[in-house]
Amino acid sequence: MHPELIKLEKTFKPSILTKIADPWLLQYPIELWMKRDDLLHPVISGNKWRKLKYILDHALSLGVDTLISMGGAYSNHLHALAYVGKVLGLKTIGLVRGERPETLTPTLLDMKAWGMELRFVSRSDYRLLRQYKNWHDLPDLEPRQYWLPEGGAQPLALKGIAELVGEIAISYDTICVPCGTGTTLAGIVDAASEQTSVLGFAALKNAGFLMAEVEAMLSHPRNNWQINLDYHFGGFAKNNAELSAFIEDFELKTTLPLEPVYTGKMMYAIYDLIKKDYFKPGQRIIAVHTGGLQGKRG
Ligand SMILES: *Cc1c(COP(=O)(O)O)cnc(C)c1O
Repeated sequence: MHPELIKLEKTFKPSILTKIADPWLLQYPIELWMKRDDLLHPVISGNKWRKLKYILDHALSLGVDTLISMGGAYSNHLHALAYVGKVLGLKTIGLVRGERPETLTPTLLDMKAWGMELRFVSRSDYRLLRQYKNWHDLPDLEPRQYWLPEGGAQPLALKGIAELVGEIAISYDTICVPCGTGTTLAGIVDAASEQTSVLGFAALKNAGFLMAEVEAMLSHPRNNWQINLDYHFGGFAKNNAELSAFIEDFELKTTLPLEPVYTGKMMYAIYDLIKKDYFKPGQRIIAVHTGGLQGKRG
């Protein structure tokens, strides 16, 4: 790995595995654990570091000077990329979905402050950008520029996610993860044993397309995974009183922080499925905290 990345990773905190200490769970014959990737770094948190690590290594090995990617106005991916670009001394360009908002979101303000050039693109143009999957695919890419598709959805991302799975030193039956592009899920499926059930929870509405996308990313076909589409709460960043109440209650009881876009929905879903006896008695379940707590502001 590139020395700059080794140096950066040395500043990271460990992602601990912790049993969720919620008295409510004691009435059920299951064990629920959390893999705390949110602890890795305050900005390049959770799955964003896992996904970026080997992509950045590849980019640095090519000697590029600019990283370009796409995302929404609250994108944890662009936020992490802007920060890492600043740390590594690389220029960053963010293609942001939709018109420039009158007041920039806290996420966009950070990105700007870290030197990312923000280019706002119409929703229809944004959709078209999704067809460019490889680092050199973006049209009009200049020499020494490196393109990352939405959410860092590239085969190299899966290699970093595999490290998360490798760190889990206890046996378990089911591993749960929230899904945006499904890249993190694909990396977990790739790395987990075939005896493990991998359960994804879509944060987006109408996310049925995710199955085929995940399938295409896997290095070998597997049938030990599923994506639950029932807990999107109306869409990506929609607010919902029931979800907010759940998150507040969960944080109080467990002192574990959640955000409403991904990890809050996943934990709500897991609790709901536990209530409905979805998991076989005696199962040990691990929920991956993918981070994203910066998005909680504003
Ligand atoms: C980006 C993000 C996800 C989605 O990851 P994908 O690999 O795109 O499925 C999940 N959780 C958090 C907190 C994220 O920031």
